[in-house]
Amino acid sequence: MKTIHDSGSSTDCHKASIMQFDRAADLMELDSALRQWLNTSFRELSVRIPVRMDNGNVQVFSGYRVQHNNVRGPHKGGLRYHPDVSLGDIRGLAAWMTWKCALLELPLGGAKGGITCNPKEMSFGELERLTREYVHGIGDLIGPYKDIPAPDVNTNARIMGWIMDEYSKRQGYSPGVVTGKPMELGGSPGRENATGKGVSMVVSRWAEKENKRLDQTSAAVQGFGNVGYHAALHLSRLGCKIVAVSDSTGGIINEDGLDIEAAGRHKKIKGSLSGFAGGDAVHQDEVLIFKCDYLIPSALQNVIHGGTFEKLQTRIIFEAANGPICPYTEPKLPGAGITVLPDILVNGGGVTVSYFEWVQNIQHFKWKDEAIQLELQTIMHRAFDRVIVLAEERNVSYRIAAYILAIDKVVRAGHLRGTYQPHI
Ligand code: GLU
Repeated sequence: MKTIHDSGSSTDCHKASIMQFDRAADLMELDSALRQWLNTSFRELSVRIPVRMDNGNVQVFSGYRVQHNNVRGPHKGGLRYHPDVSLGDIRGLAAWMTWKCALLELPLGGAKGGITCNPKEMSFGELERLTREYVHGIGDLIGPYKDIPAPDVNTNARIMGWIMDEYSKRQGYSPGVVTGKPMELGGSPGRENATGKGVSMVVSRWAEKENKRLDQTSAAVQGFGNVGYHAALHLSRLGCKIVAVSDSTGGIINEDGLDIEAAGRHKKIKGSLSGFAGGDAVHQDEVLIFKCDYLIPSALQNVIHGGTFEKLQTRIIFEAANGPICPYTEPKLPGAGITVLPDILVNGGGVTVSYFEWVQNIQHFKWKDEAIQLELQTIMHRAFDRVIVLAEERNVSYRIAAYILAIDKVVRAGHLRGTYQPHI
């Protein structure tokens, strides 16, 4: 998705990721060759995907898989289905996965995939044929020790199951080729709600740092897909008042707090939040600018930009989506008294439990849910604490601190492997 920023030109996730990277790289005084190695993709593949539609016609879709960096472990990252998917966005999203895995200290690299399509207008059979044909196109690139896809925007466990099946037909039984699978096919306990759960762990750690109890706070959640719903649900269970939620069809507000379980049930039955009676219906954009302590954008990139930021009525933004803040707008937020907790930290719970799923697949041994929750919390809290300490030490934003920690890990691994050796 492209957005027009304040000075009139457009930006995508690649541009955003480079701008963020450069701010940290400047402070780290990285030389230009090292920067080039770190901010370009290792490999980019575009595939055409012919699909027989239910009406008998063939429609040709465009798909991508971008592998950013694998010095710390196999490439890892989700697959998104959306009409706005572009190579530029996937390229930036792949880089964010490298930084996310490094920050969380998972032994994985970064990748991302996408197909330009509108899954909401496609039948189940069309989606299955699309997915299988995409696996045919990118099959040589993926594998349990090469590149491991996972769910992202508009993809789910069912789709991951088809990927596992299609790949296994060619290579033999390979549950570790993809994560976020159904439990029956080697999925992990806790993966479905992991990103939202991780978001709630970061928010509660932040509240603790502010010496606040969560039942003294309010939050607005933009996006009510897998991430937004579970983040809202876990936060509301912890006592946080969820005063606004939205999906692509509209928003619902209630200053006394929304019943998130009821909203989730409504969405499951009706397919959208529209018509949910637990609050007042508003345009979805109203949710972003609704008064709250914590704003949690949980859908797509670039939703907070020059046109919206002046209307924001929050103090803290937790980026549950990847790249929800336009990089041209971000430098203005501190002046407006708004703090940002960055995506590569906040939404890291998803890939963390993906890592646990991959480990279980390789071990052919199932972990208990309690072990997963405990390990997830350890990893999220450790990364959170390191980001806070470094930001305070260096007097930089939380995003820059997260990048410095992540870049340092990737650079060290590159040096040790000999992939990138500046001095011989
Ligand atoms: N799509 C998720 C993300 O952006 C999860 C990726 C994964 O589990 O590999 O972090």
